[in-house]
Amino acid sequence: MLSSEQQKIVRNVAKKSLNKIDELLISQKLPNNGFSEGLLTQLLESLSAADSNNFTDSVGGGEREGRIVCSLVERLHLGLSHGIGRSGNIAETQPKALGSSMLNSLANSMALEVLHVLGLESCKKALILPVCTGMALTLSLLTLKQLRPSTKYVIFSRIDQKSCLKSIFAAGLIPIIVNQTPTNPGTFCELKINESNLEEAISSIKTSEILCILSTTSCFAPRVPDSLILNGTFARKNGFFHLVNNAYGLQSPSIILQLSQALNSNLIDIFVQSTDKNFQTPVGGSIISSSNKEMVIKVGKLYPGRASAIPSRDFLLTVLNLGKNGLLKMMEERNQVYAFLVEKMREFAAEIGEEIIEPEGNEISLVEECKKLGGILFTRYKVTGTRVIISNGTVTNINGIEFKNFGSHTNVSIVPYITVAAGVGMTKNEVENIVQRLRECFCDIKN
Ligand SMILES: *Cc1c(COP(=O)(O)O)cnc(C)c1O
Repeated sequence: MLSSEQQKIVRNVAKKSLNKIDELLISQKLPNNGFSEGLLTQLLESLSAADSNNFTDSVGGGEREGRIVCSLVERLHLGLSHGIGRSGNIAETQPKALGSSMLNSLANSMALEVLHVLGLESCKKALILPVCTGMALTLSLLTLKQLRPSTKYVIFSRIDQKSCLKSIFAAGLIPIIVNQTPTNPGTFCELKINESNLEEAISSIKTSEILCILSTTSCFAPRVPDSLILNGTFARKNGFFHLVNNAYGLQSPSIILQLSQALNSNLIDIFVQSTDKNFQTPVGGSIISSSNKEMVIKVGKLYPGRASAIPSRDFLLTVLNLGKNGLLKMMEERNQVYAFLVEKMREFAAEIGEEIIEPEGNEISLVEECKKLGGILFTRYKVTGTRVIISNGTVTNINGIEFKNFGSHTNVSIVPYITVAAGVGMTKNEVENIVQRLRECFCDIKN
């Protein structure tokens, strides 16, 4: 937070522009209705004018004076060149860059408010980090590790996404893999873990050496979001921390509900989400949050040095542009598009059902077709994001740990399948387009 004296300096600069900007700086509240691009530009220019590199009467005698040599770069940033944080704390105010510092504190306030608006009222603090989710998980793990220096293991509810796993290795920790298990073996069914899977995974390890459980909410079916109550209760019972990877979970009402219940019961220490996946900003940022203020402050203090202000700036501009109303509308539209996608995929599956389901024991041809499908969907049909998953027993080695059927979240072989997601910002047109291309692609490989 800036001191009131420092805030006054920033506010005096902003006074020349609209009252709305002044209001925003005082209240640090997300407006109901979005700001126009013009107003956002004025906001940035006001903030920029409060950084010492843009004063007309100051002269810099240090090694970090915010000088920019390329005028295009300067214009891209509207002169905001100091970044955020000071050596030793990413959330701290930089006295010679009060505008950039205000931007940072505003963005963090908005992040907390956005979490509240989306239904996570018990969050007490939020911090935007200029790194993506995987790295933010690493920084969170390192923060937790400082609190329990003698630990070295992380219980990892298996999700086959490499950043998750690498976040553990990058922190110098060792994952204890808990494989997802089919709820109805032998059929295409949900994959999840239960308490006995957790018990079994730690049976040969000293609990005093276990740092935390890393749960993941947002994931591709048939893996289901981890039960945060189950994992959180297990963590509390054994004295482990509970870290939650909520990469793109803010757009899912059912994940929000689970998170909110677990937060209310104090079952989560830190949870992390992506700014690009949830809010449609360029890649580069993440939000870490907790119902325990101190935890978030500790992550900020762990961060060594200053950082880019861009992820904070882009998040701030995006949510101000949306306003509270626009944000809720964007999330509601995603729910509708998701329902539409389910409907269209169901239609398509029914259409092709008779053609693709092979008699038992003839999985090979199906696998071959799936491989072909995966291959040409992107190259020939320009469909991105869908994944074809084939469990053929292949073993993948990641940092010395072997994963059977990597991509499927489980060692148990299941039938080949394709995943499609409805991320925030997707339109019904895009759904129709994808299903149509899938249909054409399917005809293609059949001929
Ligand atoms: C995106 C994502 C991550 C993190 O990847 P980054 O590139 O670091 O943002 C981690 N887990 C899951 C499930 C994800 O979807």
